[in-house]
Amino acid sequence: MLDKHSRCINYMRVSLTNNCNLRCIYCMPKDIKNSCEQLLSKEDYFKIIRESSKLGINKIRFTGGEPLLYKDLVPLISDVSNLSNINDLSITTNGILLENMIGDLKKAGLTRANISLDSMKPDRFNTITRGGNLNTVLNSIDKYLEMNFKKLKINTLIIKGINDDEIADFVNLTKELPISLRFIELMPLGEGEKFYKNGFISRREIKNIIKEKTNLIKIDNNVYKGENHKGDFSFISPLSNRFCSSCNKIRLTARGTLKPCLHSDIEYLITPFLNEEAKLNEEVRRIIFNKPSTHYLNEEEKSRCSRSMFQIGG
Ligand code: SAM
Repeated sequence: MLDKHSRCINYMRVSLTNNCNLRCIYCMPKDIKNSCEQLLSKEDYFKIIRESSKLGINKIRFTGGEPLLYKDLVPLISDVSNLSNINDLSITTNGILLENMIGDLKKAGLTRANISLDSMKPDRFNTITRGGNLNTVLNSIDKYLEMNFKKLKINTLIIKGINDDEIADFVNLTKELPISLRFIELMPLGEGEKFYKNGFISRREIKNIIKEKTNLIKIDNNVYKGENHKGDFSFISPLSNRFCSSCNKIRLTARGTLKPCLHSDIEYLITPFLNEEAKLNEEVRRIIFNKPSTHYLNEEEKSRCSRSMFQIGG
């Protein structure tokens, strides 16, 4: 459906949990404990997604926290994949648990995964994620590529002084692997704020670094590839290339709120409407319609949202 700024909203990012099995330095505080509570049941998620799909949401991405920690993920994917309007059903994951779950996820109807990977150096990966094992993620990537999924997206967040010396290595990864690599700009929100002032690196700077070593072919507006490379790369640049005017997304958080703009502090609790289909539908419609027009990250150098990505759903 169209919101009041005439944007077509067809994409819902659904956070299944705030828990994670990693503690990435720019995302989660070091000492935060995982909770045993599963806030929304799979039936709750299903109802919200079903009503949203009636309003034109046809693309769902499960995220978190780490979505593979949600115990009902496989049956939830199975239920959602049976909704006739949903034609793209994916997850964003750190890949730690993916290798073992990927067969079940595929059978349930998952169409694609995005794997977050910020370093190809085992020690550095371990430091950035505060404990992660790089090989586990690489094995998941290999397994994914053996299966007949849509093209794998690798999300790489570049931070100056942390992993910007690996930009060329990441592009090299696309030489042999048929993947879509996405360089993500660091956003000043949650733990990310601590790194923003000294660590932010723009899309243009990243591209210039790549150009020094690689002959680039532009294959679409924001998509490039190295000559003879099997994969491609692009940029997610909410700061240097603000894309609010074409934003097609709303978010459902693990607390049961709908969040129409990542960087606004406006959220609406949707759980009181779960038992009344018509009211739930009306509420989702109202929230989508009133999606804010833009964020103010560039002007304010700080998100108006006071939560971190793991609490919103990245
Ligand atoms: N656990 C899953 C994963 O690691 O992909 C899903 C959740 S994680 C919050 C999703 C994405 O958010 C990751 O790719 C991460 O790099 C990104 N992210 C977290 N904090 C960020 C920030 N301050 N700026 C930009 N991206 C951020």
